[in-house]
Amino acid sequence: MAAANLNFVPDIRRDPFLMRTVKSSLWLLTILSSSFLFSQASSLHGIDVTDLDRKAQPCDDFFQFSNGTWRASHPIPESMTRWSKRWAAGETNKDSLKEIAEQAAQQKSPAPGSTDQIVGDYYGACMDENRVNARGISPLKPLFAEIDAARDIAGLQPVLAALHDIGVAVPFTLASQQDPHQPTLVLADIGASGYALPDRDYYLKPDARFEEAREKYVQHMIRMFKLAGWDAKTASDGAATVMAMETKLAQAALDNVTLRDPSATDHNTSFAQLQARVPHFDWAAYFEHKRLAKDVDLNVDQPKYMDEVEQLLAKTPLPEWKIYLKWQLLNSAASSLSQPLVEEDFAFNGKYLTGSGEMKPRWKRCVESTDQYLGEALGQKYVEKYFPPEAKARMQEMVRNLLAAMRDDILSRPWMSDETKERALAKIATFQPKIGYPDKWKDYGRVAITRDAFFEDTLAGRRFVVEDDRELIGKAVDRGRWGMTPPTSNAYYNPLLNEIVFPAGILEPPAFDMKAVDAVNYGAIGVVIGHEISHGFDDQGAQFDYRGRLKNWWKDTDLKQFQERGACVADQFDHYYIEPGVHHNGKMVLGESIGDLGGARVAYLAYQKSLEGKPRPPDIDGFSPEQQFFIAWGQFRGDEIRIEQQRVMMQNDPHPVAKYRVNGPLSNLPEFQEAFACKAGAPMVRPPEKRCDVW
Ligand SMILES: [Zn+2]
Repeated sequence: MAAANLNFVPDIRRDPFLMRTVKSSLWLLTILSSSFLFSQASSLHGIDVTDLDRKAQPCDDFFQFSNGTWRASHPIPESMTRWSKRWAAGETNKDSLKEIAEQAAQQKSPAPGSTDQIVGDYYGACMDENRVNARGISPLKPLFAEIDAARDIAGLQPVLAALHDIGVAVPFTLASQQDPHQPTLVLADIGASGYALPDRDYYLKPDARFEEAREKYVQHMIRMFKLAGWDAKTASDGAATVMAMETKLAQAALDNVTLRDPSATDHNTSFAQLQARVPHFDWAAYFEHKRLAKDVDLNVDQPKYMDEVEQLLAKTPLPEWKIYLKWQLLNSAASSLSQPLVEEDFAFNGKYLTGSGEMKPRWKRCVESTDQYLGEALGQKYVEKYFPPEAKARMQEMVRNLLAAMRDDILSRPWMSDETKERALAKIATFQPKIGYPDKWKDYGRVAITRDAFFEDTLAGRRFVVEDDRELIGKAVDRGRWGMTPPTSNAYYNPLLNEIVFPAGILEPPAFDMKAVDAVNYGAIGVVIGHEISHGFDDQGAQFDYRGRLKNWWKDTDLKQFQERGACVADQFDHYYIEPGVHHNGKMVLGESIGDLGGARVAYLAYQKSLEGKPRPPDIDGFSPEQQFFIAWGQFRGDEIRIEQQRVMMQNDPHPVAKYRVNGPLSNLPEFQEAFACKAGAPMVRPPEKRCDVW
């Protein structure tokens, strides 16, 4: 994952690049979808009637009605934790990437440093499983030796800086971040990242499920240490040490709801203040190592967390620190090592935490790893082959239509003053859409990749990602950078750049279908676009102005109205649960839920507007155009998710589960009620006094 960017639903594994971007990730919100084209030709198809569950009533449970048969007849593959037509399309993308990587790997003598060479050798080395297995744990030994060589806490700090260089960013991270007060500048951001379970609650809450996860985590650490060659007692003591240190760090960290408030992590700090706050760390040496000037603009996300880091540096004995760092390294590197480590890593992070039945095949893991570290090299070849220019043009048109609908929607809001409306419209006017792929590709020329050393290749990839991010600090913002790779089947909004971004990987069916009528495309990719636009006006996005500054642009009375409207949505989602006692946290999923509500409504308005002056489209398969629109959303969004994965989502994912992403927003919309002639009192019709209406 690139720099100051996101973390998105599909992968909750311990990834150093995800860990160091927790703060930013909560600002950048995802949803999904695909390519398009509009036409009213009669040969175009409507929604997929074979996906419908005709036994379910649309006014009772629209999620079940719209896609129940598809889910029943397409069980989640063993290697996946969730499944839908969209997830299936995302996996199919990987077949295309495999073909590209294999072709590159078969090149006879590609020019050193060329895309073919680095992609081909990276993938080829990854696929050489025998060699990877034969090396066992040995690739880690030089790094372990560096940790062992430290004579005191001060001597450990250069090792810690070296671990940061390869993305093992503990117990804090250093990353670039756009300055929320001067959005043309990039500052250095120090974040909290010292524990490996999915969320701080796992360490702190007394509930049986968290207690079990802690016990399983300790057992997992013991097995991993043994695989690294430690005896039983050393492994067991080591796991206890790590657990104790991680728990202290988790205690000092902010919770996910607090982290949604951009002000909570906005702490401009001078170098001297940082040194005074954490005196047991040699910041001068660290900054020098990172080639940062002491007067660089600096933000510390969580000062109290850094106080705990100071306590640990001051009081925790050196041998314990060494064990902690070895664990973080082992945990971070496991998936690039030999089979026993890969399997144990999967047994805990995949099987136990998220319910996966089996690992993905090696080729797919190798494709994903290539995408992670060399994503724009692989992606460049991907778009040449799979992303037609006309898709970009049509996506631009649709984004324009959705922005116009959002503008109309804001103008029509009776609760908003003209003054605030004017500022909201200024924000819409400066929205920057990015579609398909970057205009300027990253240069991987300095990444040394060889065919025979997969582990070292991953280190080279990690160093590139870290350095590529560090280089941004202290410079003017580069508005051309992307936070997702082109083949990614996802999308995001970034409030600091006020941009909405749709990689090529999402611009394909089922999100956008060249052969489908407009109602279907507006209901799928249209709602996705509307969702991303609405993020500019959700609980976080609304705090940033048209220039990307964290600055209140609301009139007090309007802000109060907006917050009350948001509280309605948070309350709605607080009531949704996945199993008895495990509810959504309405405040944590508020941004995504405002995005879905606004997205559905604005896309519906845009669709209606697109029909003006044209003959009304015909019903298809007995469904009106309006019904097709809503069914398309239900079918696009129709994920089946393993319960284990849902439980993790409840803790650390700002997105609600799919069922509520469909039924939640639609049960608020009078347009939905009308389209399906739902009676008052039906489960899909919230009573007027409880109906939520934001955008
Ligand atoms: Zn989102």
